[in-house]
Amino acid sequence: MNRSYDVAVIGGGMVGASIAYQCAGRGLKTALFERRHLASGGSGGNFGLVLWSTGQPSVRFALDREYDGAARVARLPAELDFDLEYRAAHGHCLIATEEELALFSGHRDRFVAAGFQERIITPAELRREEPNLRVGPEVIAALQTDEAVLNPFRLVQGYWRQARRRGAQLFSYSPVAGFRRQGRRITHLVIPAGEIAVGQVVIAAGSWSRQVALMLDISLPEYFIQAEAVVTEPIAPFLRGFAYWGNALRVPAESRIAAESMQAGWESRSGDYLFGAYDFGAVQAGHGNMLFGQMTHITPALSDQTSRNLIPDSAREALRLFPQLGKLRIMRAWRSPAPFTPDHMPLVGRLGAYDNLLIASGFASAITQCPWAGEFIADLAAGGLPAAAARPFDPMRFDQPVAA
Ligand SMILES: Cc1cc2nc3c(=O)[nH]c(=O)nc-3n(C[C@H](O)[C@H](O)[C@H](O)COP(=O)(O)OP(=O)(O)OC[C@H]3O[C@@H](n4cnc5c(N)ncnc54)[C@H](O)[C@@H]3O)c2cc1C
Repeated sequence: MNRSYDVAVIGGGMVGASIAYQCAGRGLKTALFERRHLASGGSGGNFGLVLWSTGQPSVRFALDREYDGAARVARLPAELDFDLEYRAAHGHCLIATEEELALFSGHRDRFVAAGFQERIITPAELRREEPNLRVGPEVIAALQTDEAVLNPFRLVQGYWRQARRRGAQLFSYSPVAGFRRQGRRITHLVIPAGEIAVGQVVIAAGSWSRQVALMLDISLPEYFIQAEAVVTEPIAPFLRGFAYWGNALRVPAESRIAAESMQAGWESRSGDYLFGAYDFGAVQAGHGNMLFGQMTHITPALSDQTSRNLIPDSAREALRLFPQLGKLRIMRAWRSPAPFTPDHMPLVGRLGAYDNLLIASGFASAITQCPWAGEFIADLAAGGLPAAAARPFDPMRFDQPVAA
């Protein structure tokens, strides 16, 4: 295979597709490499919530990306000229303990101060808002957010449609299996069909970015948590927004792993840990199907294999929230990874070990971030310099070097 591209983007999720769209829009000859098909990673396994969910609300740059990102996503259907099944929706985080109430009140204070719309509501208000949600005596309050929902498959498809119109080329079922290098430059990608000459390389492989970077002898501080979910047959409109249980466990657990990995070196394996941080959420998709899911464990290996208890556990939790859905059939169950980094902020920018290597990865929630990440990376690929304000997401920001 004798082909060459200005930019090779590795990973056909929402981030990679957005980058390909933006690079092609700057006149760069762009190719997108995906080991399976578009949206076969986290981008096809998520709930489509347009969440503002930065793990670092104290960092203004991170908050601004969420704020601008949510507004930008609302305009995306027009920009991409594609129906993303976008709808504004209230998120409701159910709160059962005083500890969680304090945690989520703090969340509200920080986000409201930054211009976001969220409030703590009473169980009675929650019942009025979502009449089909069982608000039991254990619920003492809820955090209500003015967020949105879309169809994540259509988000990736919408980006790719426009990227293709701009001349980008897709290599699906083309896992990048290696690289050829010359000094500080990557010259070729190796895929099963052969070698592809490249000007710039962008790693946008989500939870697999660490594996891809290891092929370049780079140890990235990026880990992942596995999530599992089920989708039911469609029903009539039932849930207006989305609902989930507050969870005071997950972030501390991830932080502990991250802190230990920082002490032990990035090579410390996330697989040495297993914790039962439990996040359960529900949303109704555009066609009426109910999605129920849970963030479960940090596990040794990326695997598509769902756990044996997924369906009974999901059914039990779903019936706790919606007892009237007892007869609903589950159509499909899946497992999907969601990445995180030691400081809960993504890695976006140049990876200094090579002169022509960029990365956009580590997004615990990517929907609000992918429009910005696409533009930022495309500007760099076109020869621009990173804005100083973007330093909090600089992949080289850690004291510990990222190159092994
Ligand atoms: C159950 C669940 C619910 C979630 N809910 C939400 C939500 O509601 N809202 C939200 O914003 N986020 C949510 N997330 C997180 C969200 O899914 C991720 O932030 C997002 O998918 C990251 O997108 P990405 O493009 O970076 O990575 P991915 O979508 O994972 O894409 C990476 C791609 O790289 C490909 N790849 C891997 N290795 C190679 C290789 N060697 N060569 C070529 N290609 C390769 C993979 O096949 C994959 O398609 C959720 C995650 C899960 C698991």
